[in-house]
Amino acid sequence: MAAELPKGAFRGLAKIVAPLCFWMAAGWFAYAPMIERIYSSVDEVIDLEEIRMFSLTMGILCIAAGILLAFYGFTGKEPSDAEVKAIGHRQTLCHYCGDEVIPGDVECRKCGNTVTAKRT
Ligand SMILES: [Zn+2]
Repeated sequence: MAAELPKGAFRGLAKIVAPLCFWMAAGWFAYAPMIERIYSSVDEVIDLEEIRMFSLTMGILCIAAGILLAFYGFTGKEPSDAEVKAIGHRQTLCHYCGDEVIPGDVECRKCGNTVTAKRT
């Protein structure tokens, strides 16, 4: 998946977007009291319950998105360079001599040791 992108591009983005999500959540939570204050000062009657529900829903959604992104961005395991290389080349190396083992072989062609399928 997305092999063209530099390693950790999504993770870096998640680290930036996660705090923004929390910031937006705070904005949504402040939205209802703000509207309430504005409309009470101009003596206009509006459906506050609907606005409260909407801003609460949006706030919770933003927090949930922020938590997910923060979790992904800060705790996700980055594959090592060796893992990335092995996935790219589908290569198996001998434990004993480090020579490349042809897929399907049980014994190393160079040193003769039994090869367990370990990718490096
Ligand atoms: Zn070997």
